[in-house]
Amino acid sequence: MTNQQKIQSLRDELNQHNYNYYVLDNASISDYDFDIKLKELEKLEQENPEFFDANSPTQRVGGTVTKNFETVTHKNRMYSLDNSYSKEDLLDWEKRIQKILGTTALEYTCELKYDGASINLTYENGQFIKAVTRGDGFQGDEVTANIRTIKSIPLTLKQDFLIDFEMRGEIILPLDGFTKMNQQRLENGEEAYRNPRNTASGSLKLQDSTEVAKRPLDCLLYQVVSSERKYKTHFESLENARKVSFKVPKTITLAKSIDQVLEFIHYWDLKRHDLPYETDGVVIKVNNLQQQEELGYTSKAPRWAIAYKFKAEQVSTLLNKITYQVGRTGAITPVANLAPVQLAGTTVKRASLHNADQIEKLDIREGDTVFVEKGGEIIPKIIAVDFTKRPENSTPTVYATHCPECNTELIRTEGDAKHYCPNEFGCAPQITGKIQHFISRKAMDIDGLGGETVDLLRKEGLIQNYADLYDLEVEQVVPLERMAEKSAQNMITGIQKSKEIPFEKVLFALGIRFVGETVAKKLVKHFKSIDNLMTADFETLVAVDEIGDRIAQSIIDFSSDLGNIQLINRLKSYGLQLEISKESLANQTNKLEGQVFVVSGVFHQMSRNELKKTIEDNGGKVSSSISKKTNFIIAGDNMGPSKLQKAEALAIAIISEQDFIDKVR
Ligand code: AMP
Ligand code: ZN
Repeated sequence: MTNQQKIQSLRDELNQHNYNYYVLDNASISDYDFDIKLKELEKLEQENPEFFDANSPTQRVGGTVTKNFETVTHKNRMYSLDNSYSKEDLLDWEKRIQKILGTTALEYTCELKYDGASINLTYENGQFIKAVTRGDGFQGDEVTANIRTIKSIPLTLKQDFLIDFEMRGEIILPLDGFTKMNQQRLENGEEAYRNPRNTASGSLKLQDSTEVAKRPLDCLLYQVVSSERKYKTHFESLENARKVSFKVPKTITLAKSIDQVLEFIHYWDLKRHDLPYETDGVVIKVNNLQQQEELGYTSKAPRWAIAYKFKAEQVSTLLNKITYQVGRTGAITPVANLAPVQLAGTTVKRASLHNADQIEKLDIREGDTVFVEKGGEIIPKIIAVDFTKRPENSTPTVYATHCPECNTELIRTEGDAKHYCPNEFGCAPQITGKIQHFISRKAMDIDGLGGETVDLLRKEGLIQNYADLYDLEVEQVVPLERMAEKSAQNMITGIQKSKEIPFEKVLFALGIRFVGETVAKKLVKHFKSIDNLMTADFETLVAVDEIGDRIAQSIIDFSSDLGNIQLINRLKSYGLQLEISKESLANQTNKLEGQVFVVSGVFHQMSRNELKKTIEDNGGKVSSSISKKTNFIIAGDNMGPSKLQKAEALAIAIISEQDFIDKVR
């Protein structure tokens, strides 16, 4: 045997033992013998550096230190899941998708919802390439070196699977590993970790991968993403993934009806406490992959999947005091300060009370004993008062009338659940909050400037609003606490670079009330420049698809404020992008104005998403189901027969992919 062959055969053998132990839970070698073989391989690799391979089992011990994790754009967006809580919710969901697909013959897979941190693993030609966290769904952090240390993740696949694919799963910390880790920490005089989920997700961002290697992390896989159409169903793709080394839990089950889905849910609602890891629900997915594609996505979640949340845990505790927080838009949030209590593995001290109506409706008072619940959300909520424990001298809560930060009288406009502090330009948390929002990742994404520094800059009187950022100079910033020449320079460079950020992000960054990311995109598409937007009247605004009275009024209020007009003029003078760029304008036309399209089947020249984007870029509308309003159906291969029938019954024009391309060309 040559050295190369020896190395290869040791790697294969060790990979197989790893797989048996970590995936199949079935050891095939003693720890001692494994170590001997690993040492042998290490030695051979050292003597023959030309055969180095980052995916060798010797590389699992870590050793890489990452100071800054690189931001990577996901090839395929990582969506959230819609939630359901009852049989009715599930039946509604089924009805919705049956309507879109035009069939009642559906099959589902039921999976547990693993409670950890989501991860996207890229493989090419059977080799692990990289791992990226979910991040905001569009972009995440590359954590490849850390992920490589997790033994149940295959670095080299055992058999052929797909050529180029992504594997999605959840990084978890099994309960017994978590307990052991905490015992160790307590022995070392360190504080115990609060819960497995946060510890798992925190582990992904440790700088030293050797530390990650020491943690008993595991990875449970739940989705194969690939453009190859090798498998017809989700279940089949997962079963095959398991065969080639991935840890796909055996708990996944096929269901032929919602009743069978409910059986799975009821079984695991009771049995989940016996599992070696935490789960907070079940995920139900349409099994047929072509149907999944037909169903597509809403702006935040797939239509073909839904999570079912198990009932949350509850405890009761004393509400000591109600305080008020001021957000960046001036919105006031009442907060319940509680006697600390253990709930679902964490200590809870505060809970959100939402708004004045909520307090009144539940009749929540200081001194009450309240029931607190924690679902998937980070902030727990109060669901009821234990009236049997109410003190005799208790009086109803009187909601704050003045801002706790600047003492301005609060206002509440009709139809609005929240109170606001109107002192937009003089109320500290609003000033800081607006600038913090402006620089945040989804907005101007300014490198080298963080939320705390913004607060510091404001306190020092260097900035009062986001436009002031662009006047900052290195010499002004250097003398500040914890600033050095280099970090000051980075900050100024980051600010100057943000002038290239596209208009839709700038519009979102302005922090106009109710103008979130999606609304900002809509507005940019329609109005194309800040001037067009700010001079539009109410009627023009509400005429835009999905822009309602509330958003329109908020834009009018913003645009008629002299302070805002001055700010915008300054931003213009600094050269920020306040209109749509020439390139994106070039791809947009009104050719399809007023036309509604339904896209169905499998396409060859464009992906389904490209097709939809092209429709929208040319002024058309995409709808998910066929109705009288539909003008055209773009039919790919394998369009569903019931859709075809419906289209014929309504006499809607059916066109091919090529017809469509000719139309917009
Ligand atoms: P949420 O964050 O509540 O919107 O839920 C979506 C997340 O659930 C995904 O990002 C996954 O990380 C996680 N998840 C856990 N188990 C599964 C599963 N079996 N299928 C899909 N997603 C899952
Ligand atoms: Zn205020």
